[in-house]
Amino acid sequence: MSIRTGQEFIDSIRKQKPDIWLGGKKIENVVDHPYFEQPVKEIAKLYDMQHDPEYQDEITHICEETGERINNSFLNPTEPEHIQMRRRLFEVWAESTFGLMGRTPDFLNTVVTGMAANDWFYRNYGEEYGDNIVNYYKYIRDNDLFLTHAIVNPQNDRSQSSHGQQDEFTHLGVVKETEEGLVVRGAKMLATLAPITNEVIIYSYPGFSPGDEKYAISFALPIDTPGLRLYCREQAQSGERSTWDHPLASRFEESDALLVFNDVLVPWERVFINQNVEAGNRLYAGTGVNQQPSHQSAVRGLAKLSFVSDVACSVADSIGVDGFLNVQNQLSELIQSAEVIRALVRTAEREYEVTATGELRPNIVPLETIRGLLPHTYPKAIQILQTIGAGGLLMSPTEADFNNPEIADQMEQYYVGRTDVTSEDRVRLFKLAWDLCGEAFGQRLVQYERYYSGDPVRKMGMFYNAHKKKNPTYPRVERALQEGAELSEYGKTQTAN
Ligand SMILES: Cc1cc2nc3c(=O)[nH]c(=O)nc-3n(C[C@H](O)[C@H](O)[C@H](O)COP(=O)(O)OP(=O)(O)OC[C@H]3O[C@@H](n4cnc5c(N)ncnc54)[C@H](O)[C@@H]3O)c2cc1C
Repeated sequence: MSIRTGQEFIDSIRKQKPDIWLGGKKIENVVDHPYFEQPVKEIAKLYDMQHDPEYQDEITHICEETGERINNSFLNPTEPEHIQMRRRLFEVWAESTFGLMGRTPDFLNTVVTGMAANDWFYRNYGEEYGDNIVNYYKYIRDNDLFLTHAIVNPQNDRSQSSHGQQDEFTHLGVVKETEEGLVVRGAKMLATLAPITNEVIIYSYPGFSPGDEKYAISFALPIDTPGLRLYCREQAQSGERSTWDHPLASRFEESDALLVFNDVLVPWERVFINQNVEAGNRLYAGTGVNQQPSHQSAVRGLAKLSFVSDVACSVADSIGVDGFLNVQNQLSELIQSAEVIRALVRTAEREYEVTATGELRPNIVPLETIRGLLPHTYPKAIQILQTIGAGGLLMSPTEADFNNPEIADQMEQYYVGRTDVTSEDRVRLFKLAWDLCGEAFGQRLVQYERYYSGDPVRKMGMFYNAHKKKNPTYPRVERALQEGAELSEYGKTQTAN
C-alpha cells in the first residue's frame, strides 16, 4: 500500500475499537461522534491532498526503496533539497488547518523516520531494538498510518522520580517480561488526538535516575490494543455548535487523552528501549528525535502565528481602528513576530547540520530559538487580538438571531462595521477571532504553544547549557579586554615597567 486517501483513513479508524472514555461515557463510534466527527474529516482532508494533483508533487514522492508514492515526512533528508521537500509538506498541511492542529500525521512520521535513521543508537543496546525501529518505520510508512505519542508522565508528584511516586505503577512501567513481550502497567499523561489515530508510540524525555529502570521504556502499539484505555479531557466544545457561530472551534479541536495501560502486552518486535535508564536518558541526544520534528513544529507555529496576525489585522480594519497609531504599533509587533519566526525557519533550513550517518538536520539553534520565542509571542499575539477586538468580541449575536425574520433588520443595522462591512461580515469575523482568543478552544491553543514540546523553562536551561558547551570561552570579550588594556594608561605603564 502507498499513500492513503481520506476515506481509507476514516475506514481504518472506523474498523478500530479503542477503549475511549469521554465525559463518563464509553465512545463506541468515534467517526460519527459529534465531538470527533469534524476533526476526523479535517485529518482526512490532509490524506486526500496526497492524491490532489495540485499538491501531490509538493507533499509526496516516490520511495527509493519500494517504488511506491509516500508522504514527504517519511523521507530521511540526505540532500538539502529533501529539507525543502519536507518544509513544503509541513507548510501545505499546516495551512490547511491554519496551523491550529499541531499533531497532524507529519509530526510523528518525522519522529519515527528520525528514530529509524539513527537505528545505530538502538543497536547499542541490542541488535533487535535497531531492527524493531527500522521495521516499525517501514510498517507505518508503507501503510501510511496516523500516530499519536505519549512522552510525559502524569502530573502526580513532580518532586519525585517515577519510582518515588505513591504507587509503583502510577507512571507507566514494566510489570514483567514474558516470551511474547513486555507486560506494562500505569499511565502516560497526554496523547493528543489519540482517539482518532491508528497507533501510539511511547518514549520519554531524559531525566531517569537509578531505580527508574522499569519506566525507561519505548515501544509502539495499535491504539486499540487490549488493556489500553483512553480518558479524554473535558471537551472545549460539544461538536454540536454551528460552524457559523464557531468557525474554528467547531472544526479544529484536537482532543487530548490520558493513556492508562492495564497490563498491556507489548510484543517484543514493538519494543525499542527495554528498561534501560542510560538509553532512556540518551535517546534525545542520540537520535536527534527533537530536531527533525522541531522543523515541523516551527513551520506549523509560523502558520498559526501568521493566521492570528491576519485575523487581528482584519478585525482592526473591519471597525476602522487600524488608522490609530497605538493599533498600528500592536499590529506591526504581531506581523514582525511572525517575520522573525519565518527568518529563523529559513536559517534553520539553510544552515543545516550533517550527522556522521549523512542525515541532514535543520539547524537546532534557530529551531530552539523558535521554541523559546513562541511561548511568549503566541500569547502576546492573542493578547493583541483581545485588545484590538475589545468589547465587540463579547457582543456577538448568533446565527439564530440573524436567521430570525422578526429581528433580522436590526441585526443588519446595529452590527455593521466601517463602510462596506456588513453586520454579518463583522459578526462572523469577530466570532472567528473569539474562537482564537476567548473560547476554551483558543485557551488550549495558547497552552499548546507553551508546552507542546516540554517545559519551556527547562528547555531554555538546556539551550543555555548547550550554548555554553559549544562556547566554553568568550574570545570577543577577551579581545575587548586585551585591546582596552593595551590602550589604557595602566596598560602602558605596565608595559614600560
Ligand atoms: C495542549 C497540549 C498538548 C500536548 N500534547 C502532547 C502529546 O501529544 N504528547 C505528549 O507526550 N505530551 C503532550 N503535551 C504535554 C507536554 O509534553 C507537557 O505539558 C510538557 O512537557 C510540560 O509538562 P507538564 O505539563 O507535566 O508540566 P510540569 O512538568 O508538571 O511543570 C509544571 C510547572 O512546574 C515547573 N517545573 C516542573 N518540574 C520542574 C523542574 N524539574 N525544574 C524546574 N521547573 C519545574 C514547570 O516549569 C511548570 O511551570 C501536551 C501539552 C499540552 C498543553
